[in-house]
Amino acid sequence: MAGSTSIYTIARRHAVATLLSMPIIMWVIPLFVSGKGYSFDAISGIMMPLMVTLLIVGGGGSLLLVCPNCRKSLFMRGPFSVPWPARTCSECQTDLTRIDRKGAPV
Ligand SMILES: [Zn+2]
Repeated sequence: MAGSTSIYTIARRHAVATLLSMPIIMWVIPLFVSGKGYSFDAISGIMMPLMVTLLIVGGGGSLLLVCPNCRKSLFMRGPFSVPWPARTCSECQTDLTRIDRKGAPV
């Protein structure tokens, strides 16, 4: 069925965005800024808010992206938090590629 996006696809996009922005914040921005001759303090002043934003967006997204059936986070495998979403819910075995975030089939 067309028109709706599976919870797994949404979670995978979230994971890609988080994983891509991580090296940009960790390496590309500091390298770019230090190339401009800014001090370590100035670089930290730019880095800290970006890291906090990434943590909030990354962590918050993974808390919001939960199995529609049992509310378990797609980013939890048993007791562990992982950077990539599960295709099948580790708790109730729901196929997360076939339902949207409200639990409707896609
Ligand atoms: Zn589940």
